[in-house]
Amino acid sequence: MIISGNDYIERLAGYKREIYVKGEKIQDFVEHPNIRPAINAIAFTYDLAARNDQYAPVSDLVGEKVNRLNYVNKTPEDLIARLDFQRELSMRTGTCHYRCPGADAICSIYPSTKEMDERLGTDYHQRFLSFLKEIQSKDYACTGALTDTKGDRSKRPKEAKDMYVHVVEKRDDGIVVSGAKIHQSGAFAADVNFVLPTQTFKKGEEEFAIAFAVTPEDEGVKYVLQNTGYQAKLREGGSYEAGNRKYGDRLTCTVLFDNVFIPWERVFVFEDLEAERRVLTNFAVSHRCAGAACKAGFIDSMIGAASLMLKANGLEKVPVLRQKIGEMVGISEATYGIAIGAATKGFEDFGSWQSNRLIANSGKIIGVEGFNKVLMNLAEIAGGIPVTAPSEFDLQNPEIGGLINKYLQASPNFTTEDRLKIIKFIEFWATSSHLLGGIHGGGSPAASIIFLQLLADIKSKEDAVKEALDINE
Ligand SMILES: Cc1cc2nc3c(=O)[nH]c(=O)nc-3n(C[C@H](O)[C@H](O)[C@H](O)COP(=O)(O)OP(=O)(O)OC[C@H]3O[C@@H](n4cnc5c(N)ncnc54)[C@H](O)[C@@H]3O)c2cc1C
Repeated sequence: MIISGNDYIERLAGYKREIYVKGEKIQDFVEHPNIRPAINAIAFTYDLAARNDQYAPVSDLVGEKVNRLNYVNKTPEDLIARLDFQRELSMRTGTCHYRCPGADAICSIYPSTKEMDERLGTDYHQRFLSFLKEIQSKDYACTGALTDTKGDRSKRPKEAKDMYVHVVEKRDDGIVVSGAKIHQSGAFAADVNFVLPTQTFKKGEEEFAIAFAVTPEDEGVKYVLQNTGYQAKLREGGSYEAGNRKYGDRLTCTVLFDNVFIPWERVFVFEDLEAERRVLTNFAVSHRCAGAACKAGFIDSMIGAASLMLKANGLEKVPVLRQKIGEMVGISEATYGIAIGAATKGFEDFGSWQSNRLIANSGKIIGVEGFNKVLMNLAEIAGGIPVTAPSEFDLQNPEIGGLINKYLQASPNFTTEDRLKIIKFIEFWATSSHLLGGIHGGGSPAASIIFLQLLADIKSKEDAVKEALDINE
């Protein structure tokens, strides 16, 4: 089923959630100025899917249209359609849409449970399919929680047990888990949080090799929101002072699991190292591929802002500045092209279509470098004003508003207010959580480089050079 963004918000408002913002437990979380933007961004994933059939494929599991982000990719075309959806969402919202890790969790648990059942004769896959049916037919918004707090990174999980989500009790009807997941994008605004392992584990560490789903009725789950300068700015109010007030920046939280009971129906990997490795690898690769498409969308948004800023300043004819926009377009298309390449050159894995591992990880590396370069171009085009401008409140102030209006006016084609909106939007891009989100979201570049080193066939490249140079050793 495809529901509307408003239907999703109404459903969410009915959940009792323990959410903390700036040290306070909040009540009406759906209306909170720090939370609402993330909800608006997720709501947009519903509304855009309703507008475009490409983003609402028919699922053979439920026999009706479902959101592309709740769909198991079976072909390269499926995956490409998802990437296009993500690029458009990122461009139109200028932020994270939060359902991407949920989509990656679905597409990685599907083959992993199937493989596990074939190997062990278990029924994890049927269990997962029943849950996926519910997700698809109710059009749930899902997120994915992997990152453990980890504590002292030099220790193995057994020595730092509480720093990893782990099983504290195994019962006939399910498991009880404790621990915390950090940096969780939009988890407080989702219907389902998939919880997956943060890393691969060795023999003897099976207790951490678990994957399960949390739903709103589960007790003992607490969400603590991030609190950056941007969140303070959102709390300040105004209509455009926060730059992207409607959709906000990349809003994350720490999720605390305080002895949470999870019924077996929602446990999809339990103490199996092989399945855990498959879930994690497929998730990481899928997320890095999708992340490259997302970055293209973010860059598209920055291109739009840069072009408007040139016009608002009366600089749109200056070749050296226009050239910077050309560079930004090149980076956006290259990043998108890597994602499409990874999808096209992917592989079949137990009935699902997965991205090419080498290419997807390259998308992370090139995407991060490109993102940095684009941000620099945007900053150069904008001048210093995104970090020095007065506020929208000053513009409205009867004593100084007239003067601000006069002195911040540039091109006659733009009102001072419209120019200030563009300036604030660029401030949002340059100073919010986007840069670090781009660098670390989906795993830090170091993690991708490790993948690339492991997967690359360096020997064939050495051999090619040796052959060309007549080296015979
Ligand atoms: C905005 C944002 C949104 C995010 N959303 C999500 C989400 O929705 N779900 C989710 O699960 N996670 C999410 N993440 C988490 C992201 O995956 C992590 O930030 C990333 O995996 C790095 O983990 P860390 O931040 O804990 O870094 P740390 O573990 O603190 O590491 C710091 C640095 O050291 C490197 N490092 C650490 N240990 C090693 C080692 N042994 N060898 C080599 N290098 C090492 C890391 O790669 C990193 O560069 C998000 C992050 C951000 C910033």
